[in-house]
Amino acid sequence: DVILEENVSFESLFLSEVILKGLIDNGFQKPSPIQVKALPIGRCGFDLIVQAKSGTGKTLVFSIIALETVKLHINEPQVLILSPTREIAVQIQDVIKNIGKHFQGLEVKSFIGGLPVELDKINCKLCHIAVGTPGRIKQLIQDKFLNINSVKLFVLDEADKLLESSFENDVNEIYNALPDKKQILMCSATYSNELKHFLTGYMLSPTHVNVELETPLLLGLKHFVRILKFQPNIVQQTKAKNEELLGILRKNSFTQCLIFSNYQTRAESISNFLNRNGWNSTFISSAQRQTERLNSLSSLKDFKCRILVSTDLTARGIDAANVDLVLNYDIPIDAMTYLHRMGRAGRFGSQGNCVNMAFSGEETKILQNILGIIGGQNISIPILEDSLNIDSS
Ligand code: ADP
Ligand code: MG
Repeated sequence: DVILEENVSFESLFLSEVILKGLIDNGFQKPSPIQVKALPIGRCGFDLIVQAKSGTGKTLVFSIIALETVKLHINEPQVLILSPTREIAVQIQDVIKNIGKHFQGLEVKSFIGGLPVELDKINCKLCHIAVGTPGRIKQLIQDKFLNINSVKLFVLDEADKLLESSFENDVNEIYNALPDKKQILMCSATYSNELKHFLTGYMLSPTHVNVELETPLLLGLKHFVRILKFQPNIVQQTKAKNEELLGILRKNSFTQCLIFSNYQTRAESISNFLNRNGWNSTFISSAQRQTERLNSLSSLKDFKCRILVSTDLTARGIDAANVDLVLNYDIPIDAMTYLHRMGRAGRFGSQGNCVNMAFSGEETKILQNILGIIGGQNISIPILEDSLNIDSS
């Protein structure tokens, strides 16, 4: 495949038998480049800043190190993993459970906001690996339900997001409560330069592990821009984009599609519009109850629906292997968000398309700016003249 390392096997990375069995059972045959680079150093206990593009297998890096770290006879949390969204936390829990299926008695629990805290209090006592969002984890530590005295490994997935102002205080408090002696792993596709500098304060001379960062665009992913005639008011804007959306869905083949809007209410109304027009879809946003959010995501992952309309809630980290079309109904606010959104297609080197719908004028300018930042001089992104046929471009 496009991104697999030809000559390296998981066996040659000196992993435990139980983990090798778990990997094989889950269909993982060879490590990806970031796994080859990060696993050996990570297993030696060094602090790592792991950077690799979306969909290249960063979750397995810290999941494997987590499993190598726990001692099952110690009935206390030994690994703490944070993620910025509840959905990513649950996804990580699933991956570790799957890979760790041959660990007799292993307990991996997720602790996320929006679900009743009562069950969490029981699970805290029954857990080797804890995965969660900062707010809930902080609360459980402060209320002395989650005992973190035995934590030896602290992981921040989507680390740059977790250190943004909205999470920073919670993450800091958790960090300060943890034992001094611990390994720290940070993972993301994106880090700003200031952040890299700041991170070194968190860690003991961390090792930066990254692969092929020259171009941030993903292999196998094509980008398109469709410029729509500017419309003066919101009603006409909605009408124009909705019509365009139907055209794109009708004229192009896709397996599953993720549509991004910048607004919660708009995500819902796009989904309703699609349903009225014969495209079965569902939506997800943080305005929903947590159980609804998890259901919406499951329906995409379990292939109960082909189209999910979302806010940037799912722009990061979410792994739905069959998404091969990402549609920006609204242009994202910045280049970072663009990179994360498009990373939802083209998982692990698969083929996919990313289509942008922009009105001429301001929105097109923002998009051009973003594409300039991420593409440098070397890429040209086709502007589609017609209500588009990606395949013939
Ligand atoms: P990232 O966190 O880097 O964006 P993920 O860890 O979510 O990416 O992995 C993306 C997809 O690639 C997942 O579906 C995962 O199962 C798959 N994957 C990861 N590592 C391998 C591997 N070594 N071989 C095959 N598939 C893999
Ligand atoms: Mg990830």
